[in-house]
Amino acid sequence: MKKFKFVLFLAIFWTIIPAQVFGQEYVTVTASSGDGIYSLIRKSGPEPTPSIVAKFKALNEGILKGRDVLQIGRSYRVPSTAKVYPIFGKAYQNVSTTSERLKGHVYYIIAGHGGPDPGTIGKFEGLQLPEDEIAYDTSLRLARNLIQESATVYVIVRDDNDGIRDVEQFDIDTDEYYLGGGKIVRSQSQRLRDRTEIVNRLYRENKSWAKSQQMMSLHVDAYGGNFEPQIDVHFKAASKGGYALSRVLRDTMAAKYAEFQPNRVYKGGIDDSANYYVLNNSRPVAVLVELGNIRHSGDQYRLVKPGNRQAIADWLRDGLISAAGGKSL
Ligand SMILES: [Zn+2]
Repeated sequence: MKKFKFVLFLAIFWTIIPAQVFGQEYVTVTASSGDGIYSLIRKSGPEPTPSIVAKFKALNEGILKGRDVLQIGRSYRVPSTAKVYPIFGKAYQNVSTTSERLKGHVYYIIAGHGGPDPGTIGKFEGLQLPEDEIAYDTSLRLARNLIQESATVYVIVRDDNDGIRDVEQFDIDTDEYYLGGGKIVRSQSQRLRDRTEIVNRLYRENKSWAKSQQMMSLHVDAYGGNFEPQIDVHFKAASKGGYALSRVLRDTMAAKYAEFQPNRVYKGGIDDSANYYVLNNSRPVAVLVELGNIRHSGDQYRLVKPGNRQAIADWLRDGLISAAGGKSL
C-alpha cells in the first residue's frame, strides 16, 4: 500500500476541506445541528481521545475562545490521522487507524479470479452474480478493516474503478490487475503462479520485521446444484499453520452467528486437506475463505447485501485479531 503524506478528505454529508500545516495534519469540518466537539472529531475519523480533543482545542483556539460550544455552520479544524487509499473508492478511501492490535502483522489479501476470469457466475433474481466481484468487494472491506487495526496490508488483486461498493448488483468487468501493475492472464495455472509469486516475494521482503504474515484468498465457489444446503462462510487450508488459523476464524464465525443469528445454526467448516496451488505454494500462512455457495439462493441472498459482506469482513478481522493474540472474540 502506498503511504500518502497529504491528507485529503471527501465531503459526503458535511463540508470537509483538505489542509496540511507543517506536520500538523487536520481537516476542516463544518459543524451541523447537534454537533459537539466529540461528534465533530468522529466525523473526520479519529476517536476523540483526550490528546485529540486537546489538539482540537489548540487548533481552534481563536474560534473557541475558551468555550466548548460549537456554532452551527462554522468551520473547525479537526486533527486527522487518516490516510487516503484510492483503491477503496471515494466513499471509503479515507482510513484512520483506530487501534494497534495488528501492528507488525502482515496480510496478503487476494480476491479470487479477476481479470479475464469472473469465476463462477450465479443467477440471482434474473441477474448475473459474478464470483470475482463479490470476493473483491469483501476483500476490500477486510483490507480496510485491517488497516484500521494498524496492520500492513497488501491488496494483491486490484481494480482502480471498483472501490468498496454498497450495491446489490455487480457488473462483470475484466480490468482487475495485480499489485505492482502486472496483468491477470487467462491461463489459470499461470494466474495462480503469478499471484503466489507476488505474495512470496513480498513475504521475503517483510520476513525480517513482521510479527506474522498471512495470506487470505477469498472465493464464492459453487457447490452442487441449486438444492444443496446453504453453505456458510467456510475455510480451506493445506498446512498446519493454515489449519490453525482456519480454526480461529471458524470459531469466531460460529461465535458471531450464535450472537447475531441465534436461531440459525452455523454450518461453516474447514477442509484441511485442500489441494490448491495458492495454498500449497504460498510462504505465508495461507487460508482460502469461501464466502458461500454462489449457486445457492440462500447464500446469494446473504452475499448481495452490502451490510452482510461488511459483517463477514468484520468477523474475519475479529478472527485475525484473535489469532494475532488480541482479544476480539
Ligand atoms: Zn473461486
